[in-house]
Amino acid sequence: MIKKLDGTFVVPGEKLGVVEEFDPGRGTVEVDGIVYSAQTGKAALDPKRHVVTVKPMTGPVVVPEEGSSIIGVVEKVQEKMAIVNIIVVDGKKMPLPFTGMLHISNSSPRFERIMGDVCKPNDIIRAKVIDTSQRIPKLTTVGRDLGVIKAYCSRCGGELVLSGHILRCSVCRNVERRRLAEEFQSENTVPS
Ligand SMILES: [Zn+2]
Repeated sequence: MIKKLDGTFVVPGEKLGVVEEFDPGRGTVEVDGIVYSAQTGKAALDPKRHVVTVKPMTGPVVVPEEGSSIIGVVEKVQEKMAIVNIIVVDGKKMPLPFTGMLHISNSSPRFERIMGDVCKPNDIIRAKVIDTSQRIPKLTTVGRDLGVIKAYCSRCGGELVLSGHILRCSVCRNVERRRLAEEFQSENTVPS
């Protein structure tokens, strides 16, 4: 039960336990032997010193805004649009993935007929948020630094590598098409 408390989200006045279990630390208050949270944040237990603290949630919640630069994982690709799980907004990692939508008309400066030529599921893309008036933010990958930054073979899941202008699977040698960001060649690490 005590272990379960560590890392949980708590609000002011929430009962954390009793003084027999642990001493009240920063962000907590003890009243008649009962330890309560004094602020909104995450409970943390120090098992050696038997102290409970509550660390305040830092900073405002990150949400994509118009003009935000995002990194996302392509989840689903339909003929004219792709669903993207936004994982990083303006360099900050999202606590939970946020869904965005990329329409084919905003995907490339060239005329693309099918979304599968732009990106495929599991690809990692860099995009910009262009419209947040709908429930799902709309994305664009038009721009030199935007597009697919990491791509995986639709046949075997292997990583695609660029040799010259040909995008080829490093495992099964399958050749594929993507709308690549300019940084694709040098980018070899998954953003964290
Ligand atoms: Zn392959």
